[in-house]
Amino acid sequence: MLTHILGYPRIGSNRELKKKLESYWKGDVLADDLASTARALRRLHWQNQSQAGVDLIPVGDFSYYDHMLDNAIRFGVIPERFNVADQKAGLDDYFVMARGESGEHGTPAMEMTKWFDTNYHYIVPEFKEDQNFFIGEESLLEQAKEANNIGYRVKVVLPGPFTFLLLGKCSGKEFDRLNLLENLVPAYVELVERLSGHCEWIQFDEPVLALDLDKENLKLFSPVYRTLKEAVSDTKLMVATYFGGLGENLETAANLPVDALHVDLVRGGKDIDDLLAKIGSKVALSLGVVDGRNIWRTDLDKAVSTVKKAVQALGSDRVFVAPSCSLLHVPFDLDLETDLDSEIKSWMSYARQKCAEIRLIADAANAANGVKVDDKLQVNRKIIESRQNSSRVNNPEVAKRLSALGSKDFMRNSVYSLRSDIQRKELGFPLLPTTTIGSFPQTAEVRSTRRNFKLGKIESNEYEKFMQDYIADCLKRQEEIGLDLLVHGEPERNDMVEYFGEHFEGYCFTSNGWVQSYGSRCVKPPVIYGDVSRPEPITVDWINYARSLSAKEVKGMLTGPVTILCWSFVRDDQPRSETCRQIALAVRDEVADLEKSGVKVIQIDEPALREGLPLRKAEQAEYLNWAQECFRLSSSCVEDKTQIHTHMCYCEFDEIIKAIAALDADVISIEASRSRMELLGSFKDFSYPNEVGPGVYDIHSPAIPSEDEMVALLEKALAVIPAERLWVNPDCGLKTRRWEEVEPSLKNMVQAAKRARLII
Ligand code: GLN
Ligand code: ZN
Repeated sequence: MLTHILGYPRIGSNRELKKKLESYWKGDVLADDLASTARALRRLHWQNQSQAGVDLIPVGDFSYYDHMLDNAIRFGVIPERFNVADQKAGLDDYFVMARGESGEHGTPAMEMTKWFDTNYHYIVPEFKEDQNFFIGEESLLEQAKEANNIGYRVKVVLPGPFTFLLLGKCSGKEFDRLNLLENLVPAYVELVERLSGHCEWIQFDEPVLALDLDKENLKLFSPVYRTLKEAVSDTKLMVATYFGGLGENLETAANLPVDALHVDLVRGGKDIDDLLAKIGSKVALSLGVVDGRNIWRTDLDKAVSTVKKAVQALGSDRVFVAPSCSLLHVPFDLDLETDLDSEIKSWMSYARQKCAEIRLIADAANAANGVKVDDKLQVNRKIIESRQNSSRVNNPEVAKRLSALGSKDFMRNSVYSLRSDIQRKELGFPLLPTTTIGSFPQTAEVRSTRRNFKLGKIESNEYEKFMQDYIADCLKRQEEIGLDLLVHGEPERNDMVEYFGEHFEGYCFTSNGWVQSYGSRCVKPPVIYGDVSRPEPITVDWINYARSLSAKEVKGMLTGPVTILCWSFVRDDQPRSETCRQIALAVRDEVADLEKSGVKVIQIDEPALREGLPLRKAEQAEYLNWAQECFRLSSSCVEDKTQIHTHMCYCEFDEIIKAIAALDADVISIEASRSRMELLGSFKDFSYPNEVGPGVYDIHSPAIPSEDEMVALLEKALAVIPAERLWVNPDCGLKTRRWEEVEPSLKNMVQAAKRARLII
């Protein structure tokens, strides 16, 4: 019984690749230096896997930036604007495509978007209607040879043709990208021919098989893979699906004319019986039984019993053991976590540990391997039990509070139309009120003060004084600019989720739990290990300090429950909805304390609400239902006169507009300037009932937007949203910008609002 993994994290256990990339971009090191770091990391990772007992070693999972961009370059898919000679991109062309060229006339980067429902972002390939494909680059072959020469059993991995095309976009007018298969498949055939002899297996990643697929498109899979299969004699082919069950694509996937099919049984566990019954008689089934998306130790008994069942049906030769998906989405090595509480740490498993887990599962399920693993299974059993029963996980108080909730707790006292009259009187804002999204420029000094305080290098009074001065400065500047509704500036927050997590029970923080978000950027998500609660007020003092400095209203600023959930590693022992409800209750406590202390406007940010949307249409309604319920649980405890805001920074609202309205926030601010207010179409078609602040200023760009530009955007907005319900604000928070950009931009924004008031 073979073990394999679909891919390993690339960035290095101490983020060596990140550091080297950034030095290279700065011009501090040469390409050779970068290349040797990359080679050393690849070799080390192969070695780690092999030592842990992984049989088939993936090659091609490494990337300098992103695997989809690699594939585009591999097949000569390079947009014309990059002017790459012969469509053969060198290293610097590659980075320009990924990151854009600086300077006013520089070529902008290719688009980047989320890889399925992960927090990894890939570069979106751009295809022309008459796109040509050829082998543009051969590092895959070189790496395969390298691993082969060391003596590993090599499995080359790359995106399959369907995933490559479907996840790309059309350059110019829309067309059916699968029409390009005709041109693309011969290039894949050529690649496969060149690779064969240098690897034992080739794995084509086709996670699109976990999405809703068009029936006609589904029919194309078998012929394409037949063509690829016919191109090789000795090398075996595997198709890998992950991030969900196969649903109505199961029959097709199970009967692909290849040597093995990999499936994600962590998310698609329901499929197993169907798969065992329907899998083609010559096809091996790779069982993704170890969670590649989360950091928890695997319940080995459970995994072993699934594998045994498969062995019984197919024989051990046709069963492989694997993680559910690439380990790219988990951190490297739990052994490097030295500060983590030892009990909680014992419940966890990172990439390196997961490699060992699949070996153990395979050995336990296959007595013929002759390896004794009973002791290790017993240890695992004990740890799994200890986690289930730990008082650190279970807080009966939280369960009691949740079960006592009634429908009233999820609803404001009055409907928006009544509330809005009361709030207008209470708050006295002008028409088209101006505000910002929360954060103001975070200077190096702000960041270092926060860090030093955390490290215990400065006393709390010194820290507090620094933050208060920053807040006072923010308030003064906002008054001068003439904004109507002020914020404190969020200097005390390193990250909008981490900050709240640090103050909640049931959360812990790793020191080395980095996962790649895009390019050299990594994030370190907090870990929810137990029932969540908020022992004491978090933001109340900061906000009230800010309020004490101004006669104008200052918004209380919170992160919403869905966003906190989406940007954390979550528990795998209860549904996400349940964890989210607990977080909602914790946020609700903070909302109640803010209101009690006199705060009249409270913003609860939910920038992640949309990305939590399940990949399959059929599962979306349920998610939206609990997500909006959680938001309302966190926000509905206030009186009518208290104004609740929310914020979301993206512009695709069509699918979720009803759920957004169901949040029943009094005001929502959204990103709109980059799409020139186009998104307001969905607000108009649905006739969104409450107040909206479509961003009039793109905070991603250092450019200072002119008054005229913003007046024009407001005119567009006024055509859709009545003046009484329109707010004026930027697209998002300003923490990444400099004061020199922010101040003139906001001054122009306030002037634009004044001019717009005259024309309504
Ligand atoms: N209030 C946060 C800020 O202004 C919102 C950030 C976000 O939407 N991602 O930074
Ligand atoms: Zn935002």
